[in-house]
Amino acid sequence: MGQMGQMEQMDQERIAQAAAILRDARNVVALTGAGIGRPSGIPDFRSEGGLWSQDDPMEAVSLRSFRLNPQRFYDWVQPLMERMLAAKPNPAHHALVALEAMGKLRAVITQNIDSLHQAAGSRVVYELHGHVRRATCFACGHPSSMDPLLAQVRQRVVPRCHCGGPYKPDIVFFGEALPEQPFLLAQRALEACDVVMILGTSLVVNPAAGCR
Ligand SMILES: [Zn+2]
Repeated sequence: MGQMGQMEQMDQERIAQAAAILRDARNVVALTGAGIGRPSGIPDFRSEGGLWSQDDPMEAVSLRSFRLNPQRFYDWVQPLMERMLAAKPNPAHHALVALEAMGKLRAVITQNIDSLHQAAGSRVVYELHGHVRRATCFACGHPSSMDPLLAQVRQRVVPRCHCGGPYKPDIVFFGEALPEQPFLLAQRALEACDVVMILGTSLVVNPAAGCR
């Protein structure tokens, strides 16, 4: 048997092991990250290179930078938003929907902001880093859905609230606290589960890093 064949055999054994674990599990939680979105064409903006290398995301997606220059953030996020709007869920997203329908999977905890789990049909999704379905005025807290703001974003105009403040999509910026409710619900789900599936994340991003 060649090296390739041995590797395939090892993979088959691991897949069989994972399937056995899932068969016996009663309360599974999935933790998902950028890797599950990549086959759907969503780039990992934390990784080097690609479309997002022109600007440092740590800078563009920081509160300090947004306060000074929201246009910089929108310039950075607009191509990513277009990708997310055009993206379709892939077989990994659909498999999680099937597991939920079987009554095994209790929650998907995701670091992704692309809404693809919901698009696939997952019902219990805790988005640790928020999403781009809605936005909030940076000055007065007025909420808006993102849809009516997109035309302005595409024209390179910062969408603004009636008070004059810029709208900030409901994603968690670097240095910003995580949204309390999804975080607490995710924590509770992790405490109650008997199996955690880790999909497409190296667990280096907080708070998932605390689950190790
Ligand atoms: Zn406002």
